[in-house]
Amino acid sequence: MAELEIKNVVKEYSLGKMKFRALEDINLSFEKGELVSIMGESGSGKSTLMNLIGGLDSDYQGDILIDGKNLKDFKDKQLDDYRKKKIGFVFQSFNLIPHLSILDNVTIALTLSNVKESVKNEKAIEILTKLGLKEQIKKKPTQLSGGQKQRVAIARALINDPDIILADEPTGALDSQTTTQILNLLKEIADDEGKLVIMVTHSEKVASISSRVVEISDGKIVRDEKAENYQKRTTKRQLIIHKEDQEVAQEKPKKEKHLSFLSALKLSIHNMWASKVKNILMAIGVSISLIALIIMLSFGSGLTGYINSLAQSYSDPTIATISKSGLDRNGNEIEDQGGMSFMPDMFEESEISEIVTELNTYLQQNDSEFRVITEGEDKNLSYGYFMITMAAGSILYTKADGSSASSQIMATYTTPPYYDENQLITDNSKISGEDEIMLSRAIVSAMGYENPEDVVGKTVKLQINFSYNDTLINIDKDVTISGLVDVSVFSGMTVMYIDYDYLDKCVIEAQNTENPTGLKPSQLYIQTDSEQTTDLINRYISQNRKDLTGSVEEQLASMFSEMMSTFSVALAIIGGISLIVALIMILVVLYMSVSERTREIGVLKSIGARKKDIKLIFSTESLLIGIISAISGILLSLIIIGVLTLIFNSLLGFAPIAVEWQYLLIAFAISVVISVLAGLYPASKAAKLDPVESLRHE
Ligand code: ADP
Ligand code: MG
Repeated sequence: MAELEIKNVVKEYSLGKMKFRALEDINLSFEKGELVSIMGESGSGKSTLMNLIGGLDSDYQGDILIDGKNLKDFKDKQLDDYRKKKIGFVFQSFNLIPHLSILDNVTIALTLSNVKESVKNEKAIEILTKLGLKEQIKKKPTQLSGGQKQRVAIARALINDPDIILADEPTGALDSQTTTQILNLLKEIADDEGKLVIMVTHSEKVASISSRVVEISDGKIVRDEKAENYQKRTTKRQLIIHKEDQEVAQEKPKKEKHLSFLSALKLSIHNMWASKVKNILMAIGVSISLIALIIMLSFGSGLTGYINSLAQSYSDPTIATISKSGLDRNGNEIEDQGGMSFMPDMFEESEISEIVTELNTYLQQNDSEFRVITEGEDKNLSYGYFMITMAAGSILYTKADGSSASSQIMATYTTPPYYDENQLITDNSKISGEDEIMLSRAIVSAMGYENPEDVVGKTVKLQINFSYNDTLINIDKDVTISGLVDVSVFSGMTVMYIDYDYLDKCVIEAQNTENPTGLKPSQLYIQTDSEQTTDLINRYISQNRKDLTGSVEEQLASMFSEMMSTFSVALAIIGGISLIVALIMILVVLYMSVSERTREIGVLKSIGARKKDIKLIFSTESLLIGIISAISGILLSLIIIGVLTLIFNSLLGFAPIAVEWQYLLIAFAISVVISVLAGLYPASKAAKLDPVESLRHE
């Protein structure tokens, strides 16, 4: 039985609607050990025939029998295996993979079969040594001469010990001296190894050393001659270790081995390293979107944490605090609020008495002894007021060094009833009364002192200008700093506490009319008899009065969260868009990489890479991009958040930003998922490339 038999093979290429017949009724039969030269003019169909024999092109009529088995009956898997094990390809243009070393170029065929690293390297080095390339194994293909490159290609073709070597114009790109070397090598392979070597050549001289010459013209065989005086080589040297003594063969179980993930990873790293600038730029692009995402999430959590700390900062369980929520009783936003107003919603007398009546009824219904009392000895309801005064209030003072200066007052609070000496930070402090104020610790350094004690007792000029009941109020008073307090809100800034009755007096004075309006409270404090009563009041408010809420701190917190949620939505949109951009970018870059590497894909297919293997190589690459982008994005985010924290702390005294490890995990996952998604299309395109056309690709 012939090793290779070609029976009535016809090959037609379709050109649009036309059909072009490249091979016409080819009948040939080849034996082991033959060295066949295929000759013919350019365009006569030589390459077409080689591609059919090599299993790269399955679209033909007629039959090709390998050891009696019809190629047409082969399933895809068997065909891949046929290319991998039975056929060794050598091309005119060498077709080495540029980003791999010489050694890796040769072992790649074994890598596709997942042969152990040590085994495949040993084998490749042995063949390369026999071909005189021992010194070159670490080099890249571009560092070799043409003859050397072709020998590497031959080593690659031999590594799997195939029975048939197909060489399409192997010497076409070589000078005459190198041509002779390569021809001798191919002759050795046929004579000593007993392989069937079929080579395409234009040179009669080349043909003259072969055992058989087949000439094709216009797709037909016009000559088929066996050389009578064919001289077999006399000295023998074995080029490759044969299957019998291969460890590969011994260790190989029934199940076929294929490209492993690790090998694919190694290939990807090689390739990505070869175009590192492109990949680094792409990783930066993806990182930026991850940074936006991580920072956005961190702002969200930082703010939530901050709000929670605010809500917990002042708590006396026996004081119930009530302020307006900014909603009406049905829970609808009150219109005409002018967005985020810095002036609080105030309570009218009538509203207060209505609340008190309702509360007392509720308390009674719930069997509580406690009643809210607004007048007299047992009065347990008191008022509070709070306003942001960052643009409206300031204090003027003489600094420690004698110079005059002023500080903005960020916020003004009336002293709540639960405020006692414990809140004060120096021993010489006391709760402020008439003509007195308390300030937050930040004033100490502002006034140029080191010791907080030194600030207490100093007289400063207090100026507040604000619009109240449509009249402009100008408070301008000399006041004494009676004490210093620590605040959790705006702790880096100056915050003022002032007695409610004193502020009321100032407001009345400042109006300068006969019928001045007193200060209306923005906050009601009820001193209860127990924590249970406080809870009862809070429950009443949360269940029945959507127009009311808890403390100023809560109000402030909700104002902040309103501000931040707008900000977060903006960031989320930006983050989302940039993730889509990143995805498209990866897709484009990988897609381009597929076109750049078309030839490489063709080579891989010609040495038996399955579609799956090609897909794996490209998918691994996109996975790597995802991982690298994730790591750099996460590191950069951490640095940026660190810097932002410092800036916020020095400006505001707190940083509404907190990273949580879950966010880093989410960013990592997103990066990997979008990269892998973006890689799917290019990878499947690469896998589907037609091997013949890929090899033709310039
Ligand atoms: P050779 O290798 O002998 O120079 P080929 O086998 O490459 O010739 O090509 C044989 C003929 O088939 C040529 O006329 C060529 O133009 C044509 N041909 C080759 N490949 C294709 C293709 N993919 N589509 C259409 N025509 C093709
Ligand atoms: Mg050709």
